[in-house]
Amino acid sequence: MLRVGVDGKVYKTFGCQAGNSLKTKDCGTQYTSGTGSYQRKTNATLHWTYDELKDTVLCNRETLIRWLMDEEVIAARRTCPVCGENMELVVCTDRSDGYRWECRKRANNKRHKSTVSIRKGSWFEQSNLTLEEIIKFTYWWSEGLTQEQIKKQLHINPNTAVDWDMFCRETCEVTIQRNSEKLGGEGKVVQIDESKVGKRKYHRGHRVEGQWVFGGIEEDSRRCFLVAVEDRSEATLLPIIKDWIEPGTLIVSDCWKSYHNLDKHGYSHQTVNHSKEFVNEDGYNTNKMEGHWRHMKVSLPVFGTRKDKYSSYLAEFIWRHVNKDKDLFATFLNDVKTLYNPN
Ligand SMILES: [Zn+2]
Repeated sequence: MLRVGVDGKVYKTFGCQAGNSLKTKDCGTQYTSGTGSYQRKTNATLHWTYDELKDTVLCNRETLIRWLMDEEVIAARRTCPVCGENMELVVCTDRSDGYRWECRKRANNKRHKSTVSIRKGSWFEQSNLTLEEIIKFTYWWSEGLTQEQIKKQLHINPNTAVDWDMFCRETCEVTIQRNSEKLGGEGKVVQIDESKVGKRKYHRGHRVEGQWVFGGIEEDSRRCFLVAVEDRSEATLLPIIKDWIEPGTLIVSDCWKSYHNLDKHGYSHQTVNHSKEFVNEDGYNTNKMEGHWRHMKVSLPVFGTRKDKYSSYLAEFIWRHVNKDKDLFATFLNDVKTLYNPN
């Protein structure tokens, strides 16, 4: 689970994995950069191929670490918690990372030794996976591979795959929450609709009730919202509409009774009677929202989605929808470093 701390930072908490206990050992070889070479690439419109990632970033540990530092996914410098001076990056053989931050300076006439993991505060903190495994997981997840496929590629245990799949979705969820702005405004049209997802009859002997989802989409942009709701009463939907849609917007919906008072709440309102027509007499329709549902339903897992997990799946769907034209790996990494700022 992600949690937001008092300092406003976002933290992962692991459900299935035990935290790494890291022993420290004496080691004093200094890290020297320049052992590998790669091209920095922060441009989110250029597509990262797997070969490119493998050849230029994952070719050796030193190159990977230097790249992660340059991309600001892990910290490129640390100050010593004891003396406040810059720490040194040193080789250590007892950890999978191969390096850690260390200070052995003298303060108040006393020599001290303090060490800090290169993962501190980052996306990689508190995981038993190697940096390389996490970057591969992140890459494949961004590219749309399923948890099952990634688990096979990496030979990791199922719980670890479940955890990281969840961290990725939660990164989308928090990113979308932070960047959310109201839809619509004067002269804008927003289509709204409610739909039940995940409902199946008598699947292997039990009935799955499904989950109501309420959503809206701007007619002339990719901007949208999707909210898992308990029911589709006016008392439930109206506050969400006010949260998500600017007053003055023209809202198009079906004839569901919860929408009957929209014009009393500062909106213009057009309805389409779906039992009779696809387009109403003034030419309005909810086709874009209908298409959105179809795509969303395909993207949701087929079974076993717990109700409280829906919001993160919806967030992943929206994240992929909004960033469709960008390189998803570069975009995801940018979101990761905004949330898990290691500095
Ligand atoms: Zn120090």
